[in-house]
Amino acid sequence: MTEEKQKCHHGVVARYHFHDARWFATIGFAPFIIAFAGMVTTSISYLGLSFDIGSFLGFGTFILNEGILMFPVYLIISMLFFAGGIEWYVLCRHCPCYEFSGKEHGNEGRFYCLANWGSPKPFKYNPSHISRAGQATFLGFTGFFLLFPILYFLDRWEFVLFQLLFTISFMATLRHWGCSQCPNFGCVLNCVDDNAKEKFLQDLNEGKIY
Ligand code: SF4
Repeated sequence: MTEEKQKCHHGVVARYHFHDARWFATIGFAPFIIAFAGMVTTSISYLGLSFDIGSFLGFGTFILNEGILMFPVYLIISMLFFAGGIEWYVLCRHCPCYEFSGKEHGNEGRFYCLANWGSPKPFKYNPSHISRAGQATFLGFTGFFLLFPILYFLDRWEFVLFQLLFTISFMATLRHWGCSQCPNFGCVLNCVDDNAKEKFLQDLNEGKIY
């Protein structure tokens, strides 16, 4: 069996390797770095949160501003979706990798794919289509993850531009290298062509893939 046959069927990835997950983690964590750099240096406040911690501690003025305070909130909400179970429920439990990859890695309680390497499987596999509510939830959290920091960059046009350019390049990269070969056909971003989908599903149903 060739490497291509082991990994892909009709151009669709059936088995992700660790280097796929490492690639995705590299492009996926970049927004947090941009957000941190931009938010901690912002002067914008929406909730009016600011604390002069330096004076309080007797070290002179040092303002802990709202951007610094909101960064962990942004991080926690994003990670709640991507690593806290919401994404697994709305998106991943519909994907064949969710169901079959654990066994191949010797741990049926976990799944291994592009965006999740060894994540737990708390939900039952459901190969049916992803609901509109699930798709909207996925798009909503992804939009929040990519665009929320801009609220705190509005006085820094170069950061706004950087974040927008990054968002476009992230989505284009993901769609071209990830979504065009992804076996999660119910995902709103999936762009595998219909012919390949049909053949992959036929092989899946006939037990030729896993
Ligand atoms: S189609 Fe893209 S966004 Fe959707 S599950 Fe696959 S890789 Fe992720």
